[in-house]
Amino acid sequence: MSGSSAQPVLWLQAAGCTGCSISLMNAEYPDIKNLILDELVPGKALSLKFHATLMGRTGRAALEVLDAAPAEHEGRYVLVVEGAIPTAGKGYGMIGDQPMAERAGSLARNATAVLALGSCAAYGGVPAGAPNPTGCKGVADFLAGEGVEVPVVNVPGCPPHPRWFVDSVAHLLLGKVNRPGMVDDVGRVAPVYPGLIHENCPRRADFDVGRFAQSFGDEGCLYELGCKGPYADALCWDHRWNGGVNWCIQAGHPCVACCEPEFLDQVSPLYRKLLAQSPEESRREI
Ligand code: SF4
Ligand code: SF4
Repeated sequence: MSGSSAQPVLWLQAAGCTGCSISLMNAEYPDIKNLILDELVPGKALSLKFHATLMGRTGRAALEVLDAAPAEHEGRYVLVVEGAIPTAGKGYGMIGDQPMAERAGSLARNATAVLALGSCAAYGGVPAGAPNPTGCKGVADFLAGEGVEVPVVNVPGCPPHPRWFVDSVAHLLLGKVNRPGMVDDVGRVAPVYPGLIHENCPRRADFDVGRFAQSFGDEGCLYELGCKGPYADALCWDHRWNGGVNWCIQAGHPCVACCEPEFLDQVSPLYRKLLAQSPEESRREI
């Protein structure tokens, strides 16, 4: 790594299931060791300073690292937030002796950029589902309400594919997210979420001739079983999961649009058929 610069990273786990971290730990190439130890792009590596699941320290000793980090790396670190931010009351979701909302706000204030990893961090996701008693919000929404001005890049998915994290961070490290049109209207790096699953689906020919699966296990398009692929921008059909083995639709399960801001409430019931006849109409329907 001679000649490379290390980008300090603080990783905060807020209201979520830690599935986004687990997804990244399952990455195969680059794997988690490559991500932590090697250059991510030529000349630039990540330097993970705090991650409650991955770091060696625990308890008070771990919190001391988090407490000292903003001053130690002021204005130079990327803050990764996994999970939504609870805003109701004062006691929902504590990290040490501080509510998650306070932690996230103060860490974001001194960050160079924030990466909202997973649909909960990006848009509220599952923890923000109605009736949302904890007042959970997505990170960008929360920070805007607090008056914190920092660039936020969303990397949604439930969980996000490791490639989506790696590719989004690469765009961030290379300064490409500042180029016009590089971030889409829901805060994602546009080339990482480039188009509808429906346009590239291996079952698309079935859709076009009206051959629809009527129950799970049938061949044919999964539209009648509630597939939201006509609404979801993602590269699952290309990247696939578990080291490229399989993905939802190939395994016979409808896409539930896990990478869209409307996940989960507005795409539920998950097995309800979209009534729209085109991707454009389905966007209006959801
Ligand atoms: S509705 Fe779903 S299964 Fe059918 S072609 Fe579109 S993305 Fe594929
Ligand atoms: S196919 Fe749909 S539900 Fe499955 S991971 Fe991709 S975007 Fe999410």
